[in-house]
Amino acid sequence: MTTRPDKPLTDADRAIYEWQMWVSSFGEEGQRRLKNASVFISRVGGVGGMVAYELAAAGVGRLVLAHAGNVRPDDLNRQLLMTHDWIGRPRMDLAPRRLRELNPSLDVLPVPENVTEANIERLVGEADLVVNCAPVFSERLLMNREVVRQGKPLVDCAMYELEGQLTTVVPGRTPCLACLYPSEPPTWQRRFPVFGAVAGMVGCLGAMEAIKVLAGLGEPLLGQMLTFDLRDMTFRKAAIRRRPDCAVCGQH
Ligand SMILES: [Zn+2]
Repeated sequence: MTTRPDKPLTDADRAIYEWQMWVSSFGEEGQRRLKNASVFISRVGGVGGMVAYELAAAGVGRLVLAHAGNVRPDDLNRQLLMTHDWIGRPRMDLAPRRLRELNPSLDVLPVPENVTEANIERLVGEADLVVNCAPVFSERLLMNREVVRQGKPLVDCAMYELEGQLTTVVPGRTPCLACLYPSEPPTWQRRFPVFGAVAGMVGCLGAMEAIKVLAGLGEPLLGQMLTFDLRDMTFRKAAIRRRPDCAVCGQH
C-alpha cells in the first residue's frame, strides 16, 4: 500500500454515502477505506469507463486512469464516459471532467498513454489496487507481471459478444493471470463484437470486486474465474489452479 495521510469521513461524505454505509460489514470503516484508496484503471473504454464511474460514485478517493487516443464514433455504443461532441478529441481530457461532475471531491490522475514496459512500474506504484480493462492481451499479461512484482491486488475484466469474465489476483494468495494464460490465447481479438450493456455489466462487477477487496467486504473472486453468458443468462465460477512453474508467480 502507498503511504498517504489518512483522511477521516466528513459529514458531507456521510450525507452522500449513507445508503451504502448501511450495507452490513461495510459501514463507516469501509467508506473510510474507499476514501483513502487509490485505484489504477488501465483503459477507460466500455469496461474501464464503467469501473471508473462506479468507483467515483462509491467515493473511492483517487483514480489513476490510463488510455491513449481520441474518441471515435465506434466507441460510443459502449464507452459511456465519452460523449458525441468529443469525437476526435482525447478521451483523457473528458474522462476526469465527467467523473468530477458526479463526484467533485474525486482526485483523478489522467494519463493519456496505454500501459507499456516504460510506464507500468510508475502507474501500478500509484495505486493500492489495479483494475485491468485493456482489450489487448499483451497489456493484461504485462499488468499481471507488475502487480505480482509489486504485491498489489488486481481485478481482471474481459468480454466478448454477450460474454464476460472476471477474476481477482492477490499476489502471494492466489494464482495469477499467467497461471491460466502463460501466453496470449491465439483466439484473442483486439476488435470484437460486443454490446455496451455487456461492457457495463463487466465494469459494474469489476467495480464491486474492487470495492470488496479495498473494504475487506464479502468474498472476492480469489482463485476463481467468473464467466457469464448473457445470451442465456448463465453464470459460472470455476477454480483457477496455481502453476508451480508459472513464469510470473511460481518458484524460480
Ligand atoms: Zn502465476
